Order: sequence, then C-alpha cells, then structure tokens
Amino acid sequence: MREQTVGSLFSEAVEHAASATALVEGVPDPSARRRWTYAELFEESEQAARALLGRFRPGERVAVWANNIPEWIMLEIAAALAGLTLVTVNPALRRDELLHVLGQSEAAGVFLVREYRGNSMEKTLSVLRTDLPLLREAVLLEEWASFRSSGSPTERLPTVSPSDPAQIQYTSGTTGTPKGALLHHRGITNNAQLSYVRNFDMRPGESFVSPMPLFHTAGCVLTLLATFASRGTYVMPPWFDPALMLELIESERSAVFGGVPTMLHAMLDHPRFDRTDLSSVRYALSGGATIPPSLVRRTEAALGVPMANIYAQTEASPGITMTALEDTPEDRASTIGRPLPGCAVKIVDPRTGDLCERGETGELCTRGYHVMTGYFGMPEQTAEVIDSDGWLHTGDLASMDDRGYLRIDGRVKEMIIRGGENIYPREIEQVLVNHPAVAEVAVVGIPDSVWGEQVGAFIRLADGKVAGERQLFAHVRQRLAPHKAPRMWRFVTEFPLTGSGKIQKHRLREEFMTERTTVNPGGRPAS
Ligand code: AMP
Repeated sequence: MREQTVGSLFSEAVEHAASATALVEGVPDPSARRRWTYAELFEESEQAARALLGRFRPGERVAVWANNIPEWIMLEIAAALAGLTLVTVNPALRRDELLHVLGQSEAAGVFLVREYRGNSMEKTLSVLRTDLPLLREAVLLEEWASFRSSGSPTERLPTVSPSDPAQIQYTSGTTGTPKGALLHHRGITNNAQLSYVRNFDMRPGESFVSPMPLFHTAGCVLTLLATFASRGTYVMPPWFDPALMLELIESERSAVFGGVPTMLHAMLDHPRFDRTDLSSVRYALSGGATIPPSLVRRTEAALGVPMANIYAQTEASPGITMTALEDTPEDRASTIGRPLPGCAVKIVDPRTGDLCERGETGELCTRGYHVMTGYFGMPEQTAEVIDSDGWLHTGDLASMDDRGYLRIDGRVKEMIIRGGENIYPREIEQVLVNHPAVAEVAVVGIPDSVWGEQVGAFIRLADGKVAGERQLFAHVRQRLAPHKAPRMWRFVTEFPLTGSGKIQKHRLREEFMTERTTVNPGGRPAS
C-alpha cells in the first residue's frame, strides 16, 4: 500500500522515465497519431492545472464529457494536481441523463467535445445551462491548447492528500437513478498497482493498448494508472473498433490483449485476426462481466498466452478479486480468482447477513482501502451499501471455495450488463411507461452470446392503444443512450406476479427463452 495521489503517481513516473513515451493517440490514420513523452505530458497537464486553478477552487468538481481522447487524460492529471474532483461522464448520455449527473454532482465546470457519434454535446449542454445554476464554465476540449495557456505560471498547486476525493463515477444498482461513487486517491492509485502492475509484472517501456472507456474505472483507473505506475506506454483508440485494435496491438507491440468479453469476441472473430502479428502479447485480460469459460479457453488457445479475469465494481475503486496468470487453466477459466491484496472479501446470506459456509452462495461483501468514500451527497444510499463495519455489499452473488477462489453466481440486483456496460432496467422502464400506449412494462436482461446480455422489454399496452416495436424503440432512443434501447420486444396481456404483486422478472426471462410469452396480437402491428 502506498500513500499516493494521482498527481504523485504521475510525477514519480516523470522523475524516472521523463523521455519515455507515455501516451499514443491511437487514431485510425497512423500518420496522425500524436505521441507524448512523460515529460511532455506532465508539462501540459501541470500547465492545465494552473489554468484550472484560475477558474476553480480545490475541492470543487469538474466534469468531463468526451470519448477517449488524450486531452481527457491530461485533464485527469491536471484536476488531480489542482485538487479538483473529476466527474467522469459517459459520452453516450442524452440530455436528461446529463442534467442529472451535472446537477447531482454540483459540477462547477464541464469539459466536453463538440460532438460524438452524431450526438451534439455542445447543443445538448447549451439547452441545459439554465437548469444548472452551479455550472460556471463549459470548455470545449477542441480548444484545450488555449485553455491550457490561460493560467498564470505563478499559480501555486495545492497539497493533495491520498484520502482526498479524486473522482466521482456514476453507477447504480437496481434503484434506477445513477449514483455518484466518490473515489479517493489512495483507493484508485493502489488498486491499479495491486491488481494489474503486480499481477502482470508490468514493465517500463511496455505498451498497453486499451479499448476501455475513460469514463469508467476500467479505463481511467485500472489500465491508465497501471501503465503510468509501471512507466509503460498507454495506447488509446478513440473508440472501440476491432480492426483498429488489432492494428494497434501489432504496430505498437502491445503486451496485453484485453477488453470486456464482447470486445474479445469481436477481435477474435475479425477476419484480420489471423493476419495480425501478436508476438508482443504476454497476457490476455478481461473482466467487468461474466466471462464464459469457453471464451477464456478460446482466447488463450488463439494467442498462446494465459488470460486473467478481474472482478471489479466501481464502488471498490474498482478491483476486488482477480485470477493470476500462474493459476491453473481451470481456475483461470471458471473462477474470478482470489481477493486482491488489501481487499477483504466475505460471503454472506443476503437476507440474514450471516457468514456463508465455503462453497455456499451468498452476497459478496468487501472491505479495505479500496472502498469508496460514499455516494456523493447521498448518505442514506451510502448506508444501504456500506454497513457500519465498513463492508461494501456488492449486490453480486458469489461462492468461495476452500482455497479462497471465488465464483460469481448471479446478481442480487437486476442490473443488465450489455457488452460490459451497465444498464439499469428501471431507468428504461420509466421512459417506456411514459409512452401513452404503454400500460405496464418490465425490462430484463436476456442472455446473448455476443453481448453477454441484451436488453429485453415486456410491454402490456393500454386498452385500445396500439404501438409497435419501432415506435417504442424510437421513443427510448430519443431519451436514452443507444445501448439502453431494448433490442428484444414482447407484447404481453398479463405479467406473472409474486404474492405481493411484483412482476416476476426471472419468469419473464425464462418464458422469453422458451417463447411461451402470451402475445397480444392487437398490440403488435407490423414493425
Ligand atoms: P461496474 O461498477 O460498472 O464496474 O460494474 C460492476 C459489476 O459488474 C459487478 O458488480 C458485477 O456484477 C459485474 N462484474 C464485474 N466484473 C465481473 C467479472 N469478472 N465476472 C462477473 N461479473 C463481473
């Protein structure tokens, strides 16, 4: 365990590896790829930290709403040096989602790209400005160079402590509205090192091509901070594209072949895979969602290297358990490994809180340096997941064997994980039920071989009303990020209910799989 901050972790790397390449912008055109040494990246970030202090006070929150671009990383380092808390925002969010995140985090500033994948972020934000009285500044990352140079060179950087807040990452259980997990410097810097650097023996000068989104801890904490802590080179495509990933792994000689399971499938299945020189790859890596043992075996066989699986949750900074490259092939394929150093893990009966026997399934709880400070501004919700003894209740069902190896057995929560991205059914249900033709709705995760899970919606239409999949899909798409729009639809005349009148979602899922759902012919016009 080290008493570190994001700023001190990076400064230390600069001291030891100033002229080594720290960052490569993995854009499709190889001639357009910008590169930074550790010294260059630090100089730009430090300058930006002074510019930040000209506009914000230490302790305030600034949000970043952009895809994976180098300026995002400079802002992460700069905010850390300036003692500001970075609020990381998914670039796919739509208006109301953004309003919630910026409003709830009380962000004083937001850094954004003009546009991403047809979503005009600039326009969306301008519509919201009047609803965000605390938001003083909006800075386009396209104008980063002029922002950076706007600070005073004499501005003094504050002392930042390892227990100070570093980031707020929005995430949620089944409660619908995303909550902001407040993570501290000590938690995220140590977590990256005690998981990846240590387990993979990450070495100076090695490249890490990472497709993980920066707005998630998998990107801005695990892959990025581990690379900087080991003085490696971080190679980052602006978005996930399997062909681009394969090209970058080959040309930048990546030591790792990694991604959430859906990304691994896309790369392994790509026609380019067999032509790619993967001789630099030392290990494969996945996590963030259930990884079928067959995928671990397939990846290891295709690459001829061992694969590690990390079990992580945002609220835990995020790594909790991980398989080691030295584990047996069976343990690597079918377990989530053992607890990481400093991360205590126990399995309890979710109803009584009693400790489970070895091999018995219960809720996985974790305690240690890595547990979040809490949900920002939400003491009650924090108390629901962190108990008075400091245990974080993950909502995941798991079992532990006699050797301390764990397996994930499902989720206490109903969260859907599609392609590694969390989707919260209630959020989608709330949007659908507001459609005039919809009387009742239940959104569930449907197992899918490519995405892990897909979003499925069960709809009961209001009497006499007609609406089809296409209309309802469009209704959701206008209001929520694309990945949340249900891809599977069933129209039902009634829902299976529990004794207390709650919809039995597990039965819907089962019925969907066996196609026994009662279809309402009147409610399903051609679509
Ligand atoms: P997030 O907060 O986005 O990191 O999502 C955390 C959730 O993803 C966990 O609570 C688990 O349900 C799931 N998860 C993460 N890693 C794994 C893994 N290796 N195997 C199975 N599920 C996982």
